[in-house]
Amino acid sequence: MDTTCTHCHAPDPTGSTLCVHCTTTLTARLQQLPRMYEALAGHLAPGSSSGHGRAGKGGPAPLPLRVDILDLRAEFDAVSGWLSAVHDARRLRGPRLTGDALTRLHTATAGLLAHMPWIVLWPGAGDLAQEIGDLHRNAASVVDPDPRPRGRRIGHCQTIDPSGTICGAVLWLAPGEQVVRCDWCSMAWPPATWMQLRAWQTENAAA
Ligand SMILES: [Zn+2]
Ligand SMILES: [Zn+2]
Repeated sequence: MDTTCTHCHAPDPTGSTLCVHCTTTLTARLQQLPRMYEALAGHLAPGSSSGHGRAGKGGPAPLPLRVDILDLRAEFDAVSGWLSAVHDARRLRGPRLTGDALTRLHTATAGLLAHMPWIVLWPGAGDLAQEIGDLHRNAASVVDPDPRPRGRRIGHCQTIDPSGTICGAVLWLAPGEQVVRCDWCSMAWPPATWMQLRAWQTENAAA
């Protein structure tokens, strides 16, 4: 029987409460949450542009940690709440959520991912996807959820500038690209030059 996705409301021919697209998105977001939570810690200190270098009397009091980031990190508790809700709905014993906040978050995301085959048939799936989506979006406004893979490392750039200096920047073959392009000197290294490039790299590394 055709159903409608409880999150994006698209018709779903598989009869699930969460369509394949929404399930893929939810899975990816859950997997990214612990790393984003960790990365947020780096944003807790107030910006260094204000209040620094004024150690003398009468200077401003040290700024407290950023309250908006503390609040954002506290929102991650919702993930544990959802795992408890799933356990409840499945009439399982409550999940064992112990340890510090990051450990609990790892347990909660791993638990939800393990229950995913059941979740996609659960009427609560849409709300779960909505709340995880909101949390992910809020965190992504501060930290990058998915730093792009840099591709394959091709050694050091061998362009020689007019002064005789070798560029030496690390070359990366970006995913899906055929030609290596140096971020530093913008030299393009098509595959036909890689043998020569490798020879120069060996030669200059030995020198
Ligand atoms: Zn959907
Ligand atoms: Zn270069």
